Order: sequence, then structure tokens, then C-alpha cells
Amino acid sequence: MTEKRTPPLIGVLAIQGDYAAHAEALAEAGATPVEVRRPDQLAGLDGLVLPGGESTTILRFLGKLRFFELLEEFCRKKPVFGTCAGAILLAREVLNPPQRSLGLLDAVVERNAYGRQIDSAIVTAETALAGGPLEMVFIRAPRIVQTGPAVEVLARREGSPALVREGRVLAATFHPELSRDRRVHRLFVEIVAAAKEAVQ
Ligand code: GLN
Repeated sequence: MTEKRTPPLIGVLAIQGDYAAHAEALAEAGATPVEVRRPDQLAGLDGLVLPGGESTTILRFLGKLRFFELLEEFCRKKPVFGTCAGAILLAREVLNPPQRSLGLLDAVVERNAYGRQIDSAIVTAETALAGGPLEMVFIRAPRIVQTGPAVEVLARREGSPALVREGRVLAATFHPELSRDRRVHRLFVEIVAAAKEAVQ
């Protein structure tokens, strides 16, 4: 008889941006989503999503209540998934302009890298994920301009990595929560479930 797993508890940083769509996508992918607005709400979570929005606004908020430091600590142990502004927060280095980041993903990320005219776009491209091409919704997106050797590229936009994974860290420069396809959220839920099992 196979034992039924309890769904992993995944936080969504709910400071600003499209966190509600992420919560819905996580639920569809088999997790229990929890909105996180204060650092003490990180306790007991199995993983965390850093949504898109405006990274400078999110950073300003994280400056309060030692939120940034506690987030850093949480993400050193548990899986984290950053989309768009969230991917910027995860990067080792941020350009245009340089700003503080968590340094959990060995990558250099340039903010607002696609110019004003084409600042939003829907691109369908090949992906390493099973199930064929992936739709990617880009909104004032950053570009991953450099990645370290441990970073696996799962999809690209115009040659630049758009979906990457480094162990327990997943990052997308697009908004997977805005497409119907749940493969990216399912991958994150799998990463969280595997990490949870490994510590039990
Ligand atoms: N342009 C935003 C930033 O630099 C990111 C945009 C997004 O998250 N959709 O923070």
C-alpha cells in the first residue's frame, strides 16, 4: 500500500506583486500555500516562493523586522523559488542598478533588460521539462546574464537562461503563475517534497 504524503506547506511572500496567483498555482500543483507577511510566519514552512513585483519595493519592506536576515537563514536550509523580481532577489549579483540580494543563486541578473518597447512579451520556447514547449510570460523582466557551473538551465529566452535551477533554488525571469501550464510549480513542489523527505 502506498502511503499518502501530506501536501508540503509552501509560503508565498505576500508583500507586493502577484502572490495570490502563485498561491493558486501552488494549490493546483499539490501544495498547501501560506501567505507570508512577517518573518515569524516562516517557521514551520517547507519551502517559499518569492513572487514578481518590484524588487526595490520588496527589498525596502524586507529591511524591517530583520526580515531580510531571517529570510536568508530560511533559504539556506529550505527550497526557494523566485519569479521575476523574486529571481532578482535570489541572485548573487544584480545590475542596472546594483542592489542588495540574497546571493542564493550563482547568477548575475540585469534588471529591466528588455527595453521599454518590448518590456512585456509572451514567448513559447523549448524546455528541459517533460511535456513540450513552455509558455513564458515576461513583464518588465530581468535577464540572467551569467550563471555559475552548478546552475542548470531549463529554458531560455533569446539564448539567455529564463528558468534555472541550482539544487534547492529555482528561479524564473518570467511569471509561470500567469500561464495555465503548472509544470514549473509542480517541479518546485517536487523539490520541496523531496527536501522535506530527506530531513525526516
Ligand atoms: N522590473 C521589476 C524589478 O526590476 C521586476 C518585474 C516583475 O517582477 N514582473 O524588480
